[in-house]
Amino acid sequence: MTAPRLEIDLKKLHHNTQTLVRRLSAVGISVTGMSKATLGSPKIAVTLLSAGATAIGDSRVENIERLRNAGISAKAVLTRSPMLSQVARVSAIADVSLNTELDIIDGLSIASRKASRTHGVILMVELGDLREGIMPADLKDVVRRTLCFPNIALEGIGTNLACLSGVMPNADKMAELSSLADGIEAAFGLHLNVVSGGNSANVAWALGGGRRGRVNNLRLGEALLLGRDTLNRRPLVGLHTDSFTLVAEVIESGNKPTESRERAPQGAFQETPSTEGRGGVSRAILALGLQDVDIRGLAPPAGIEILGASGDHLVVARAASPLRIGEEVAFQLTYEALVGAMTSPFVAEVYRDADADRAIDPVAPLSSAA
Ligand SMILES: *Cc1c(COP(=O)(O)O)cnc(C)c1O
Repeated sequence: MTAPRLEIDLKKLHHNTQTLVRRLSAVGISVTGMSKATLGSPKIAVTLLSAGATAIGDSRVENIERLRNAGISAKAVLTRSPMLSQVARVSAIADVSLNTELDIIDGLSIASRKASRTHGVILMVELGDLREGIMPADLKDVVRRTLCFPNIALEGIGTNLACLSGVMPNADKMAELSSLADGIEAAFGLHLNVVSGGNSANVAWALGGGRRGRVNNLRLGEALLLGRDTLNRRPLVGLHTDSFTLVAEVIESGNKPTESRERAPQGAFQETPSTEGRGGVSRAILALGLQDVDIRGLAPPAGIEILGASGDHLVVARAASPLRIGEEVAFQLTYEALVGAMTSPFVAEVYRDADADRAIDPVAPLSSAA
């Protein structure tokens, strides 16, 4: 089979999504399933939706277009502010977008009016992480002006924490978001459908037994895809962390001296690897490199150690018997490594059927990023 390839177990992904959707719906929180790490993979999106996600979220309009082209008509949320240069595209395919700028909402309004559509807006509030968001003191003014734009519907408010400055989504932050929602409703005599509390870093808070207040939605990527709590990278109870594996093939194998004959200043991209003083280590090269994936985000199987990598070669050591030419090695990935592998045109995607443990429809490399 083609290599390198990402093997994607849709059954495990379905289990993760259904498990979190059920736990969160018990506390009144819906799940927007984020597809951005998978470049808007239609098979991933269908799996998230069939497991109970109420909408698909993605930060890139291209990815939402890919979903639409695949015939997916579910509610789609653009989770990064549209660019002014893309408002017509966004209005044409996304139902809702997260917004912080009146000029952009104005652009969305004009584009939506031309297309006879209504575009939903969630206003993002800055609560300490210092990435996107309207300052709380300015929120009422932005709401007042948003309500005046034709063909724009104010869907709700939201916030995003733990992405840039590492500010934790805790009970205080979520209570602040709730009280901002209450304040807007009281001031303008309206109802906000959505109070979107954050991302995978919010799961521990949401399931922690405290008051959830007005928060009724989370936008989840990593927690569903990799089953991890992003605050500490620990597995979430009952979820799979290996829905995705990266498989690479051995192209050279044998014993090499434990020390280089010439002391090169450095490897191509990182510290010079060393097996000095270990004696008799069998080394192998896999056809995988930094152009395919962030090697630091790979976890090798037991007994295999990563020694280093350059653009196209990954050097590993195995203490036991040597790896054979053509043998495959499967790695687990961090979220960052997953994003890189998904984005590389050299890495194929192979989806495993939900029922049979059998690969379906391998997506050939170089056509996978359509
Ligand atoms: C990426 C992103 C998410 C999802 O983040 P995860 O940590 O993968 O759950 C949610 N909201 C916004 C605004 C994002 O950019």
